[in-house]
Amino acid sequence: MRSLLCRSLYASPTSFRPRPRSRPRPVSSMADGFAPRARLRGVVFDMDGTLTVPVIDFAAMYRAVLGDDEYRRVRAENPTGIDILHLIEGWTPERQRKAYEVIADYERQGLDRLQIMPGAAELCSFLDSKKLRRGLITRNMRSAVDLFHQRFGIIFSPALSREFRPYKPDPAPLLHICSSWEVKPSEVLMIGDSLKDDVMCGKHAGAFTCLLDQTGRYDAPEFDSVDLKPNFKVSCLTEVFPLLEAKFDLAP
Ligand SMILES: [Mg+2]
Repeated sequence: MRSLLCRSLYASPTSFRPRPRSRPRPVSSMADGFAPRARLRGVVFDMDGTLTVPVIDFAAMYRAVLGDDEYRRVRAENPTGIDILHLIEGWTPERQRKAYEVIADYERQGLDRLQIMPGAAELCSFLDSKKLRRGLITRNMRSAVDLFHQRFGIIFSPALSREFRPYKPDPAPLLHICSSWEVKPSEVLMIGDSLKDDVMCGKHAGAFTCLLDQTGRYDAPEFDSVDLKPNFKVSCLTEVFPLLEAKFDLAP
């Protein structure tokens, strides 16, 4: 099982294209030209599949919402993944209502089987010991975040669910968290298991990004041509401790 091997897959800083330095670099590119021992003041996590063990069958959920034919068509057009919430926004209110019912049903089934991701509690204790802030951004419902907080007793603040608009992959929720922490996005690491949502959100906000890829699915050839790359890639959360110590200045 590849997911149990915890491969060390730190993305090489050299895999990112340096930008010309003749003029000040915009904030959005600061994480691209990785500087050793950058200061880190907070970590923002995705929830489903990152802080919790993936239990929602997203492919089945998309199929149920879109129907087989439409699912195949949309899947072919979006090799990095389907943005179902964005798709639904263009639908009629009645069709939208039905779609949200299907999604909520899948999410409720997921809540019944909610499990914390191995290494998540230890990573949060590590962040506490370094006095690093921790936040959460999810496209799931507020009630799912509340349940996570209650069941596992680890609090993230701010913790933004899809009621916060615009949601991931828009950088707005991450920028909101940085603003409330009074830190720069370039002093924050976004960790998540979705390239198109979490890495996209982090990149556009100007933060460092870490992709959690438990199964090696992002090693598939279809991602070779995808321009969006995280700064780091790990196959389990326990790989994040040494990454933080090696790559960042963690002094408060
Ligand atoms: Mg996720």
